[in-house]
Amino acid sequence: MISRRQWLQALGLSLGASAHSSAVLAITAAGQENQQPSSSGQRLDLTDYEPKSMLQVRETRVERARFPVVDIHTHISFSAKSENGIELAPERNYLGAPDELLAVMERKNLRAMVNLTGGFDNGLVGAVTKYDKAFPGRFYTFTEPSYSKFLEPNYPRLQADAIERAHGAGARGLKILKTLGLYLRENITSGKLVKIDDPRFDPMWDACGQLNMPVAIHVSDPIAFFTPTDRFNERYEELNNHPDWSFYGHDFPSNAELLEARNRVFARHPKTQFVVLHVGNFAENLANVSENLDRFSNMFVDIGARIGELGRQPRTSRKFFDRYQDRILFGTDATPHGDEFPQQVFNDKLYEIYFRFLETGDEYFDYAPAKVPPQGRWRIYGIELPEPILHKVYNQNAARQLRITI
Ligand SMILES: [Zn+2]
Repeated sequence: MISRRQWLQALGLSLGASAHSSAVLAITAAGQENQQPSSSGQRLDLTDYEPKSMLQVRETRVERARFPVVDIHTHISFSAKSENGIELAPERNYLGAPDELLAVMERKNLRAMVNLTGGFDNGLVGAVTKYDKAFPGRFYTFTEPSYSKFLEPNYPRLQADAIERAHGAGARGLKILKTLGLYLRENITSGKLVKIDDPRFDPMWDACGQLNMPVAIHVSDPIAFFTPTDRFNERYEELNNHPDWSFYGHDFPSNAELLEARNRVFARHPKTQFVVLHVGNFAENLANVSENLDRFSNMFVDIGARIGELGRQPRTSRKFFDRYQDRILFGTDATPHGDEFPQQVFNDKLYEIYFRFLETGDEYFDYAPAKVPPQGRWRIYGIELPEPILHKVYNQNAARQLRITI
């Protein structure tokens, strides 16, 4: 088994040279930064600060989801070879064996896991054989573009044909990592960044539409990753630990430019269904996500790795779920053995937190199984969805995309 860290290293997203350097902000007992300690207070490194909430409120443990769950967003396999954030090999490395995954799935009422990073060609066939075919109804695999062929002159056609072959091999959809827009360059790993709406991908989007394969697309990243890693950054600790997650400066487009390019793709391919991961990649701004959902009837969203955002705006989130109850899919971004990234580690605890957020009205609880909240120092509130909405979010909306019955 290969760890998530090795995977990210392979993807070029790994911890950089300054990883694990301690956060430089220090706080005093008075809670002020960059000041000399008062005579009564001593400086405390931010990384050592683990406040325990004194609030006494109801704690509900939700061991099993109210309805069988389809997790539309998991990563069970990944490319054996990557460079500068670009997956280059069809061969897959596997993060979790089916038996170990099925044990958690049974306990949590998880009917199916969708492995988005299934790769292409032989790698895809391997993943489908090992999971989907061996355990029908429990695993579904998506394919990915073969960017290594990007320089071939007939790439647009070749990539569209590859989608058709992948469909024949059992792929249920297409996954686009943030590679498109943020890593893929004209010479694959060097040159100018390729835009998300580059016309060379048009035949690929159309092929997905024709074959009824949904596109699970990750565009951009949390908005804080596009601002300086400084004392005003609400995700300072995370970015300080993972400096190469920052897209501030260099030749990176802004978050707004990325989303606009993405929207042009939605507009150009109305027959293709897009499941925009991470709450449309703008969970910090549900007004923006709503506006786009209203504009594009072929847009859907999942909630993977974003309950930290949704749960800190519970009233806005609840309204969002009410309004778009037919277009929100349950997803976690779960990665077996991804212990370094507790907000997406595949285990019982992670699922219990998601269920608690969706099903209960509990207040002020951790959004990830971690000592310190890993995506910003705050806690979340449950949104107590009524059963009909829960049913849609847990499985009905995914079942429609995957064309399965639950
Ligand atoms: Zn993911």
